Amino acid sequence: MASERRDRYARVILDLRTRALDRTFDYAVPEGLDGQVRVGSCVLVTFAHRPAVGYVLGLGDEPSDGVDPARVLPVSQVLADPLFDEAAVGAMRWMAAEYAAPLLEVTRLFCPPGFTARTERDPRTGAWRLRRDETREVDDRWVSLTEAGASYVPPTSASRQRAVLAALSQGPVRQAELGLALSGAAAVVGALARRGVVTVERRRRVRGADEVRLSSAAAPRRDVAELTAGQRAGLAAIQRAVDARRGDVVLLDGVTGSGKTEVYLAAIERVLAAGRDACVLVPEISLTPQTVGRFRARFGDQVAVLHSRLSVGERYDQWDMVRTGVAHVVVGARSALFAPLADPGIYVIDEEHEASYKQGSVPRYHAREVAAHLARAHGAALVLGSATPSMESLARCEAGEHRGARWTRVEMPERPSARPLPPVEVVDMAREFAQGWRSMFSRALTAALAEVAEHGEKAVLMLNQRGFARWMLCRDCGYVPSCEHCSTSLTYHERGHRLVCHTCGAEYPVPAVCPECGSHFFRMSGMGTQQVEDRLREQLDALVGGTMPVIRMDADSTRAKGAHERCLEAFDAAPSAVLLGTQMIAKGLDFPDVTLVGVINADTILKVCDFRAAERTYDLLEQVAGRAGRGDKPGRVIIQTYQPDHPAIRAAAEHDRSLFMAPERAIRREAGYPPYTRLANVTCWGASRDDVVRVAGQVADELRATLADVRGAEVLGAVECVISRMQDRHRWHALAKVPAEAGDGLGARVGAAVARVRVPTGVSIAIDVDPYDML
Ligand code: ADP
Ligand code: ZN
Ligand code: ZN
Repeated sequence: MASERRDRYARVILDLRTRALDRTFDYAVPEGLDGQVRVGSCVLVTFAHRPAVGYVLGLGDEPSDGVDPARVLPVSQVLADPLFDEAAVGAMRWMAAEYAAPLLEVTRLFCPPGFTARTERDPRTGAWRLRRDETREVDDRWVSLTEAGASYVPPTSASRQRAVLAALSQGPVRQAELGLALSGAAAVVGALARRGVVTVERRRRVRGADEVRLSSAAAPRRDVAELTAGQRAGLAAIQRAVDARRGDVVLLDGVTGSGKTEVYLAAIERVLAAGRDACVLVPEISLTPQTVGRFRARFGDQVAVLHSRLSVGERYDQWDMVRTGVAHVVVGARSALFAPLADPGIYVIDEEHEASYKQGSVPRYHAREVAAHLARAHGAALVLGSATPSMESLARCEAGEHRGARWTRVEMPERPSARPLPPVEVVDMAREFAQGWRSMFSRALTAALAEVAEHGEKAVLMLNQRGFARWMLCRDCGYVPSCEHCSTSLTYHERGHRLVCHTCGAEYPVPAVCPECGSHFFRMSGMGTQQVEDRLREQLDALVGGTMPVIRMDADSTRAKGAHERCLEAFDAAPSAVLLGTQMIAKGLDFPDVTLVGVINADTILKVCDFRAAERTYDLLEQVAGRAGRGDKPGRVIIQTYQPDHPAIRAAAEHDRSLFMAPERAIRREAGYPPYTRLANVTCWGASRDDVVRVAGQVADELRATLADVRGAEVLGAVECVISRMQDRHRWHALAKVPAEAGDGLGARVGAAVARVRVPTGVSIAIDVDPYDML
């Protein structure tokens, strides 16, 4: 009987980018498709009299509340086997609410790389099917020797046959490879196949695997004889977290080079031995062959790699290795979180403080929070590692608990090599200037570069370039004007020649001389990598006559595929060189022979209008300082700054985090910033300034209304954004602050509040929960 059929209704989210449709619709599962329509299936349905592609997020015996079964249309066709499972659907729904993000956009995160909802008709059957371009599987022809072929002796005249047989003696070879080595190989293979000497079979190619395989050669397995005390403590804590099966978190708080990666490897080994899977996130920029190679060297073909520098086809094949259960370890950037591991037992996030774990576009999720959710959902452990943990994670460890999971911090204060952290010298650039030294390289840095050049060593120079916001700086005393009400640095606006606070909107006149010291050298600041490179070359030419290479690494020089690796390889291969780069050089690089690390301008990021600016400065300085003296030669670090007494700089110089944390905590608590609050930033933009201002004002009103009952909640704005115009669009924003203990469900509240605002065409709204970028 029909009424006994189960799962007769599918809840389908349509792949149509219309905000009003961002929910599931019921479709009936026709008898003919019983058992084929499953959670995660990609289906063809009819919507508004047209075919539409959708994803099944749930099944039920009854229609959803309020849905008239007589009006439910049937699923027309199943286009693809399940792309994700029920646990993934739970995570999607959580993410959509947590980040006030469209469910469709979240759903698409869990679809295979390169997946598109475009359809075409199968020319033979006339049925619809998904168009698969990059995600089509690719086969290779593999040639192997048959048993009979092993005893085949080619005629002495057949030199090409002999060459082919020699190539095959070690095992099967791709026909394409034979073709590269030997012209006309295909004909020879054909002839041998007809004689039964060889066979040719098609095998699926796993794109991306070659790169991975090469990388493991780059990092031969270095067996660690004995773990340090810190490593053993970390491993034991992780084991407890894995066994607890409720999403417990272990924060490995270990200085650079303390052996955190070694701990991840050991922990993953145990998880794999228990038959479960592992997911490892590394910042995109640190996903070098070196890094991937360490995982490949340990876990071999079980490792899949996912990051944006791979082609779509490569990513698809790597993803598919996970789906088919060939790979049990996925190593990748943020999006690797969504790879379809069958039974994740451990999530690892290396350099957990990195801002790149926050996605800048919709859906604006933070990988750490999503990983914590997934770990809870799968009964897995979450391991966070950093030499400079985020203030959020440190606060949770101090509380011991967050959202039902236990948070434990394990310190790893020592390097196994017992190599001490390098000494750091802080140079006060204002004093240099006062003493008549006008170069961007201080006397100390110039002398150190000369020494490196003379001894044929290597140096890394970092130029801070974050933030296109412009600020005023006194070259004499380093003074930077800040808001009287917010303690954020003021931004200079050409229009109206004024200084503006982008937290509260206050405006100030531009002082003609430094209000601190009266100096006339009170100017705009800012400097490009190219400019610094030119000066550096001049300097080095004067020292060693142009023999020392300068390798520049910034967003421009590393845009092309593989450029990043080539820069690093060039630096690695050079006997003596200077690597000059933006903050991208601070992370993960492990070159043993760097003896000097210089930071040209530690201040720029202190001044970006962002409450995390000081924390980022501290992180960056501590990380970059860790690049010096990794090998046999001792290293040294020189930091140039106009704020030698700033806690972020002093803490990095002394390698003592508490010097920074204590004052920074007081500031955050006082000003109401994370980790003491949760924030949600709502940005409105459009061509009509009046419309944008009105909508932003309404957003702020709705936010105030929805948070009225939350004690200590506050809404700032609406005010103009720091970047007040972008591509001829006016930009305004409102910022909601909620005490951390009342922070759960903030996204859902803000989403509902914003949904109540009537938005005219031409105005767009973006909600960012736990924002990192509020410019
Ligand atoms: P981190 O990830 O904390 O920066 P790594 O795991 O990369 O540190 O370790 C730094 C270096 O120390 C690596 O070359 C690694 O092989 C080595 N190492 C790690 N643990 C040990 C150990 N217990 N004994 C000896 N060497 C170790
Ligand atoms: Zn202000
Ligand atoms: Zn001054």
